[in-house]
Amino acid sequence: MDLFQKLKILADAAKYDASCASSGAPKRAARAGGLGSTTGAGICHAYTPDGRCVSLLKILLTNYCLFDCAYCINRRSSNVPRARFSVDDVVTLTVEFYKRNYIEGLFLSSGIIRSADYTMEQLMLVAKKLRRDHGFAGYIHLKTIPEASPWLIEQAGLWADRMSINLELPTDASLKRLAPEKDSATISAAMGQMHERIAEAREERRRFSPAGQSTQVIVGADATTDADILSASAGLYDRFKLSRVYYSAFSPIDHASALLPPSAPPLAREHRLYQADWLLRHYEFSIDEIVTTADDGMLSLDVDPKLDWALKNRGKFPVCVNTGPREMLLRVPGLGKKAVDKIISARRHTRLRAADVQRLTRAFNRAASFLVTADHHPARKLDEANLRARMTKPQQLALL
Ligand code: SF4
Repeated sequence: MDLFQKLKILADAAKYDASCASSGAPKRAARAGGLGSTTGAGICHAYTPDGRCVSLLKILLTNYCLFDCAYCINRRSSNVPRARFSVDDVVTLTVEFYKRNYIEGLFLSSGIIRSADYTMEQLMLVAKKLRRDHGFAGYIHLKTIPEASPWLIEQAGLWADRMSINLELPTDASLKRLAPEKDSATISAAMGQMHERIAEAREERRRFSPAGQSTQVIVGADATTDADILSASAGLYDRFKLSRVYYSAFSPIDHASALLPPSAPPLAREHRLYQADWLLRHYEFSIDEIVTTADDGMLSLDVDPKLDWALKNRGKFPVCVNTGPREMLLRVPGLGKKAVDKIISARRHTRLRAADVQRLTRAFNRAASFLVTADHHPARKLDEANLRARMTKPQQLALL
């Protein structure tokens, strides 16, 4: 098999790894075939910790695997075409693509071959060779094998920018049912070890996985609610200071196990989880506020979680842009942190009018129903149901 044929198989096989910004891109159906989830031979886009969008070569080292995780197209019992790169294959591809300016980094994952240690060593060697033998300064994101020896995982962290250890499923019971060869205690121990090494290196100003660690959770392969998924994420952020939790909507696979649901969850569910995760981390929302038992623990698919909360809490609005507290302005749909800070800075000098706020946020129409300005008061007292109906039809917002 030549390098291009291998690339075709192993870029396609990597499209289920959601540790990049293109995870929400269309055409991710497992049955569709073809190359990766975005265009090109496995090239996807991701955001680095400093906010830059970079192109990554996103591939698996191999899609052979000893494990038989029910939700995975690369599982042992799957009959997909298989391929395997050598360490030098991946190094060559990365360097050549980099020189041609196709990519700025590498995202490398793998099925488990021979043993967890052997696979982890191969992944680590790719990163080491790129850095040491080729002076590669681009971004490297390595998936780790939690079952591998702690020493090997630590070696990999010396060369990678970001390491990730997949949680896979949000509950221990689901993991036992769908991925019986994996073990949540082992995954937690690997995350804990990674957290300690990263913290030590930061304190000692040494280079070790400087972009931190992340994980991936598969959504919709089991009956876990959004509330439980967000609780699991909150626990990981708290205990292991993860840089990101990535949510990947389960995609039905050929010859699927009867343990799996017959269809994929709506991709909107994945998107809502990202939005809720963002509110938890950056807007001081609690899980109970975002998703309640009244909703069966599921996020609304119609509107984003911030708007959903505002609609359910109509009594707390409207907020005056000229006098309202920062924490309430941050809860106004359509106002982000930057816009709120600009409002607070600007209102020291003048009483803000609607046109002023419009200049500070592109989403003024969404915010208008929840804001008072010097010359604007939400015109109609709409109840939650009416306003919700209108907010799902953006063209009607200007009328409110
Ligand atoms: S270990 Fe990874 S590659 Fe192997 S079957 Fe499980 S999820 Fe798939």
